[in-house]
Amino acid sequence: MQDYQVLIVGAGFAGSEAAYRLAQRGVRVGLLTQSLDSVMMPFLPPKPPFPEGSLLAQVYHPADPRLWAFHARAKYLLENQPNLHLFQATATELLLEGRRVVGVGTWEGPPARALHVVLAVGSFLGARLRMGEVEEEAGRLSEASYPDLFLHLQALGFRFQKREREVPQTPGTPGYTVSYHAFHPEEWEETTFRLTRLEGLYAVGLCVREGEYALMSQEGLRLAEHLLHKLG
Ligand code: FAD
Repeated sequence: MQDYQVLIVGAGFAGSEAAYRLAQRGVRVGLLTQSLDSVMMPFLPPKPPFPEGSLLAQVYHPADPRLWAFHARAKYLLENQPNLHLFQATATELLLEGRRVVGVGTWEGPPARALHVVLAVGSFLGARLRMGEVEEEAGRLSEASYPDLFLHLQALGFRFQKREREVPQTPGTPGYTVSYHAFHPEEWEETTFRLTRLEGLYAVGLCVREGEYALMSQEGLRLAEHLLHKLG
């Protein structure tokens, strides 16, 4: 796999927004996500207001609330954005040179390398989903959460806080609960997005702070501005 200036793990709301903005500004971005079928896929329709000029604002069409259509529009824009390489893979570990993160290893095999690595993995670290009697490893309904990356981060000494989110019943789905892990606030620097235990590693979105889709998108844009400044 090629080298990127920025590699983002997770094409949810925060990761996609950051990747799109960086690529628009000429940064070579890799956006690696475990399933292309869930790129920027909302569970319930996102609620405006949205950040001005965001991918979220561009993709939201009030006259068409279909969630699959929203996801398809976002994926189309990401796939057609020059400098941006969206691809399907599951990150299982960080690649390290000393204390510096230089990429990620993947379950599929090929590593992905970059100058800056961003974790935008939402509710997928050590996640469990409960729906009535059923309990499974999933970060959202029908989206498996694999344990490798979380176990690797724990082995590196990262500390986490357990979080839980109750999702209401909808006409098409029963209610369910997801418990997951977010980085401990002392691991993350809000102004720089850095996970300070290592060099060249950042985190954005639900894996570091709680909030709704619009905030995740706002955070993605804030991270992009920070990295643009850093890359000069
Ligand atoms: P996500 O959008 O979850 O994106 C993370 C992405 O990373 C996923 O696509 C996942 O497949 C990928 N990923 C994870 N691990 C790996 C890996 N190792 N390798 C490669 N890819 C990986 N907010 C609302 O405004 N409305 C809602 O209806 C709503 N419902 C929610 C339901 C649940 C169950 C939860 C937990 C939260 C919900 N939220 C909702 C809050 C929050 O806004 C969303 O979770 C939002 O999607 C978080 O954005 P994100 O970019 O941080 O993560």
